[in-house]
Amino acid sequence: DGRPARSAPQAASQPPLDVNRVRHDFPILQERVNGKPLVWFDNAATTHKPQAVIDRLAWFYAHENSNIHRAAHELAARATDAYEAARQKVARFLGAASPDEIVFVRGATEAINLVAKSWGAANIGAGDEIIVSHLEHHANIVPWQQLAAEKGAKIRVIPVDDSGQLLLDEYRKLLGPRTRLVAVTQVSNALGTVTPVHEVVALAHGVGATVLVDGAQAVSHLRVDVRALDADFYVFSGHKVFGPTGIGVVYGKKAILDGMPPWQGGGNMIADVTFERTLYHGAPARFEAGTGNIADAVGLGAAIDYVEQLGLDNIAAYEHALLEYATHGLRAIPGLRLIGTAQHKTSVASFVLQGYKPEEVGDALNREGIAVRSGHHCAQPILRRFGVEATVRPSLAFYNTCEEVDKLVAVVRGLARR
Ligand code: PLP
Repeated sequence: DGRPARSAPQAASQPPLDVNRVRHDFPILQERVNGKPLVWFDNAATTHKPQAVIDRLAWFYAHENSNIHRAAHELAARATDAYEAARQKVARFLGAASPDEIVFVRGATEAINLVAKSWGAANIGAGDEIIVSHLEHHANIVPWQQLAAEKGAKIRVIPVDDSGQLLLDEYRKLLGPRTRLVAVTQVSNALGTVTPVHEVVALAHGVGATVLVDGAQAVSHLRVDVRALDADFYVFSGHKVFGPTGIGVVYGKKAILDGMPPWQGGGNMIADVTFERTLYHGAPARFEAGTGNIADAVGLGAAIDYVEQLGLDNIAAYEHALLEYATHGLRAIPGLRLIGTAQHKTSVASFVLQGYKPEEVGDALNREGIAVRSGHHCAQPILRRFGVEATVRPSLAFYNTCEEVDKLVAVVRGLARR
């Protein structure tokens, strides 16, 4: 009947994903909302935290809490070790060549702003071109617009087809000698489209452009290897991959990071300061001015351990089947229009329902304990491309089940019948 099997196909050396067992790892999934069991279909906005992450945060504050790097005492050593171990985990998770290529920031938004303010300020000039795609989240549009306005550069946009997939031939036409940067998402938060990032990167490099890949919606669903991808920058947010809020990552190739000026000044990022001048550390310390989000970086490390133990391939296989099941159920509802039907998609089933505003559908679902986002998803250009201002957006994770999808479909079908 299109349901995913209880267990996804087994990846080499990893046990298959057992959704019932996995659900026990997430205490919030036991919550009730409006008297009903919580159904969390707002994973593209943020994900829930397994007990292992919650415990790791508590352990840090109970046993390791200190500022890092500066003081020579036991707790400073513990906190520094925990923070740097988290950096190593992120490096391994992304396939980076070295932990020195991993900069901790607040999230994907701050990550993109760092690249725009630092790399962008040094490398973009009047008449240069920055290419983004029509699918981008506002976080991967606005910083480039601000930079372009400041420098007299131009923004060019890769269009999409009617399924919500990038038009690579149109992209090829946009590339040229003025292209300095290509900034594209790997997975669209509004439609779930998985973009052909390998081709996007290779084509950009063909004209000597630098590439930033927004991995905010990718890292929780797909195995990422930044070196195979050859991305110059790759960014993501911890809270969308089962880690804490307030922590995120810029991956940058070491040679590029070392050539970039700092974007914020202060403690931690300096090698030596006099009133006449400051010598900066190399990357990543150069980009981590002040006291960072130490505990949440450590929590992100625990989240990465957790998803790696489940196995990204297991997760992807399970979620693929669950998305097919949800898509099949939603498509059968009269008056429902799915927005985003690309062949290569992950975990998002955006739709509008005839006769209802998206908020009304969201409210009806909320009354049944089902959380979805209804709105513009911080991606207004792509929704307008499909002639809508807002959609209802159920977004899935590996802890969701077919039974939960059935509940969602039943509520929406009930509305459609009225
Ligand atoms: N990029 C994409 C594709 C996103 O989906 C989001 C958040 O929804 C962001 C960037 C920004 O992430 P954050 O708000 O965690 O900084």
